[in-house]
Amino acid sequence: NYNAVLAENRKLFNEVQDLKGNIRVYCRIRPFLRGQTKKQSTVEYIGENGELIVANPAKPGKEGQRMFKFNRVFGPASTQADVFSDTKPLIRSVLDGYNVCIFAYGQTGSGKTHTMSGPDGASEEDWGVNYRALNDLFTISQNRRTSITYEVGVQMVEIYNEQVRDLLTSDGSQKKYPFRLDICDLINILCVIQSCVIYLIEECSFLILEQFFFLDLHTLGIMSTSQPNGLAVPDATMQPVRATSDVVELMDVGLKNRAKGSTALNERSSRSHSVVTIHVRGKDLKTGVPLHGNLHLVDLAGSERVDRSEVTGDRLKEAQHINKSLSALGDVIFALAQKSTHVPYRNSKLTQVLQSSLGGQAKTLMFVQLNPDSNSFSESLSTLKFAERVSGVELGAAKSSKEGRDVRELMEQVASLKDTIAKKD
Ligand code: ADP
Ligand code: MG
Repeated sequence: NYNAVLAENRKLFNEVQDLKGNIRVYCRIRPFLRGQTKKQSTVEYIGENGELIVANPAKPGKEGQRMFKFNRVFGPASTQADVFSDTKPLIRSVLDGYNVCIFAYGQTGSGKTHTMSGPDGASEEDWGVNYRALNDLFTISQNRRTSITYEVGVQMVEIYNEQVRDLLTSDGSQKKYPFRLDICDLINILCVIQSCVIYLIEECSFLILEQFFFLDLHTLGIMSTSQPNGLAVPDATMQPVRATSDVVELMDVGLKNRAKGSTALNERSSRSHSVVTIHVRGKDLKTGVPLHGNLHLVDLAGSERVDRSEVTGDRLKEAQHINKSLSALGDVIFALAQKSTHVPYRNSKLTQVLQSSLGGQAKTLMFVQLNPDSNSFSESLSTLKFAERVSGVELGAAKSSKEGRDVRELMEQVASLKDTIAKKD
């Protein structure tokens, strides 16, 4: 009986997730690149249970060390397969009807795109989280085909200066209305109009209640946090896909479209967020019960701080928008980790687009990317502080909890032993 298996799956998954929490933070340190081998690393120690010590090159010894604790830390030698291994249960849960959001955060050049997509033209071995996730998704759905059928659709958008741009449109890939409409198109349009009207009514009542009565219906659970049709960006092109290769092709189209918006792809990609959304709709063949899960795969804009005195005009505007959206994302995840009653989704386009996959039953996984070069210490420190805050396990704040104290004490012991060894050398 498929429903029983599904229910059991969900129960097991929830038990595991309850233990781990809905928000997981993995730190990944990229290796030194070719020709960089003689550089000094900022990473002092990586523990098996997610401990990380970084050192300030300007302050040798214990004084310059700072400790962090995440769900896991992947060192420079970790492979794409290692990094993906812990992500598998999340992918399975999308097929069970959950929403999942996976994103990479860090300064430009820290390996966000490497972790999410892999290098340009990557072989299967070098595939990043995106392709591995899709591969798993299709394999599992194929294995379940006798009891449940799945339809998978992909959207890909870029958020740049608080504007959402569809990356899968143009070159005839977008439907052209109103030249020939068949009845299905008409019904689809009516459905979209209907859900938009309902959405508008909901939003208006939400605004009135929030403004005049200080009530948050989303967090009170009265109103669904999903957007019309469950689509975060209802008017962005949705392409049906049947295999990973379809998605690889689509992502290529998306990347090319992304490049069109700017002179240099690298420049642009470090200053905009790219969001790939995989919509999974399933139907139990026996009972007809529908399932709907979303997977958001997000390559965030570079988190580096821009010196305000050095940039003006467009660069300053970009920097302000990136700052705004990344701190809004931090605030949302922090509020969720604290189980706060108000979650500020409305403060940026990014958090609005990701809303259905942040909070509620949704699972969030953040890859915190680090450049090991000690010249990047101050950027790395601010990246780690951001991650520490959103993971809700600030060691400073956890002083009173036994686990936090134990970790802190053990890490201090490790640091002092390292100090002693260094002195003996
Ligand atoms: P970001 O997207 O954060 O700007 P990239 O993913 O483009 O950074 O990585 C910067 C450079 O480092 C690229 O040349 C990439 O191939 C390389 N790189 C990043 N992470 C790794 C890794 N784990 N192993 C090998 N090379 C990596
Ligand atoms: Mg990148």
